[in-house]
Parts: sequence; C-alpha cells; structure tokens
Amino acid sequence: MLIRILGAAAGGGFPQWNCGCPNCGGLRRGTVRAKPRSQVTIALSGDADRWVLLNCGPEIRAQIESFPALWPRAARHSPIAAIALTCGDLDHTLGLLSLRENHPLTVLATETVRQGFVDGNALYRTLERFPGQVTWRRFVAGLETPLDDPDPARAALFATPVPVPGKPPVHLEGRVPPNDEQAIGLVVRDRPGRRLAAFPGAGGITAAMRAAIAGADALIFDGTFWSEDELARPKLMDKRAADMAHLPIGGPDGSLALLADLAVTRKLFVHINNTNPILREDSAERARVEAAGWTVAEDGMEIAL
Ligand SMILES: [Zn+2]
Ligand SMILES: [Zn+2]
Repeated sequence: MLIRILGAAAGGGFPQWNCGCPNCGGLRRGTVRAKPRSQVTIALSGDADRWVLLNCGPEIRAQIESFPALWPRAARHSPIAAIALTCGDLDHTLGLLSLRENHPLTVLATETVRQGFVDGNALYRTLERFPGQVTWRRFVAGLETPLDDPDPARAALFATPVPVPGKPPVHLEGRVPPNDEQAIGLVVRDRPGRRLAAFPGAGGITAAMRAAIAGADALIFDGTFWSEDELARPKLMDKRAADMAHLPIGGPDGSLALLADLAVTRKLFVHINNTNPILREDSAERARVEAAGWTVAEDGMEIAL
C-alpha cells in the first residue's frame, strides 16, 4: 500500500489566511522552524495505478498537481478511482466541488455525510451536469467495502468504517441531529493484508477504535490540537478542543497517553491545526511526540507499507 500525504493541516491550513498567531505569523516572517501545510487530504493506492483520495479538501487542485501519480494519462482521464470521506466538514469535502469538470466521480461516505453534502445544496448541482456524474457508495460501520473498484474481485484496497466520537459539520449544527455516522475512521487493507488505521478526526478513543488500531501496520491520527484550550487561552476562538470533537494530543487524557500501549510501527499525526506547537520543529511538544515514536505529517510525505 502506498500512502501519500497531500495535505497534513486541519481546517484553515497553515498558515491560515486570517491568523496572526505565533505559528502563522512566524511562518510568514520566517522566524519559526516550520513548514506550510495544506488541508487534510491523503492519497492511497494498493496497486500503484489506481488511487483513492481519503477526503477532498479545498486545495485539491494544487494537491493533485503536486503528485505526478495523480496526473491524467490521456486527454480526459484521472487515476483517482474513488474519494472516501471520513466526515462532512468543509476542510474534508469542499474539494469535491472543484472536481466539477464533467468527470465521473465515485464518492464513498456514510448516508449522513452524503445527505449533509447534497441536501439543499444548490452548489452540488455542479456535480449533476450529466447523469451518473457522481456515484455515491455507502459506508456502513463495521462493513468492509472495496475502495478502488466496486467489484471486490478487481479492487486492490478495502476499507472498514469505524465510528468515531464526532459532531455535525459547523454549517449543519442545529440542523441535523448528531448520530454515530457523522464521523468515521477507516481501517484500510490491501490484498497482501497490510493495514492502515486512518482516523484523521476523532473526539475520543473508543474500544472499537482501539481494536481497529491494535496491530495495524500504520496509524494516521487526529493531531489537531496539543491542548484543550489552545484556541481559547490566546482568545483566538471561544471553543475548546472537545467542543470541536478533537481529542488533544497532550495531557494525561490526550491521544499520546491513551494510545501509548498500542503496538503500531508507523504513527502519524495529521489534521494539525496551525496553532499546534508540534508544527514547530524545535518545540518541546514536537520532541515529546517524536520521542514517543510519532511522526508529525507534512505535505508530500510518502509511506510504503
Ligand atoms: Zn477537519
Ligand atoms: Zn495561526
């Protein structure tokens, strides 16, 4: 299995357009040791031919251009066989609307995420220019489904959705009731049986998530915030990490501590918010996660399992 990080940042990217926090400002001025990152999208392939996008962020056009394996191989062609959504947040889905140039798309999502994107969305009509422009395939918790081809005999990658503690996207808050299909992680396996546990967003860690992560060959996990009050303390935003359904990395109840006992060879934090101190390559927090065997994902990083 090939894994290419196209974008490692959380919503807003790094730097974020309206943010002058020490990280964003320092990155612009060149006074912090850090690299810019685009919003969370990851490309996966089981055969180095067909690719699956794990989420589809607002910077998808530039992300495709950044990776020659995703370039067209004919006058009208794309090696992107499918797009798998783990939630309905705009940093995970907005790129779909950018892929509107009369090209058939296959999108896998829970029914809740599909409805949230399609229902009452006039902009979605740009993906209904011809019959069959988008084929939706459904993710159901616990049910393995082929990713890069609907025919299991031809697919090279398969995914089993795992519900994660989450919440509706900000633009749907108060409009749709919360349910356990709002956010999922995926256990992706290839034909030789190598497994990637991908949880780019997670408000907590359930027993089912732990079971999915244990023994995986690689783990991609929510690295949005280091601490609960990362936005509230410097008065950037009146919300705590828990309000945004992101489990912080640090602290006794953070992901670093809670996942410490699970044996996984490759562990990456993705979906990193621009305020997170792990973005600074010389920070104490960065040293802590690296000492615990984690990699802080960056755009362009590749892993072969
Ligand atoms: Zn997000
Ligand atoms: Zn910032």
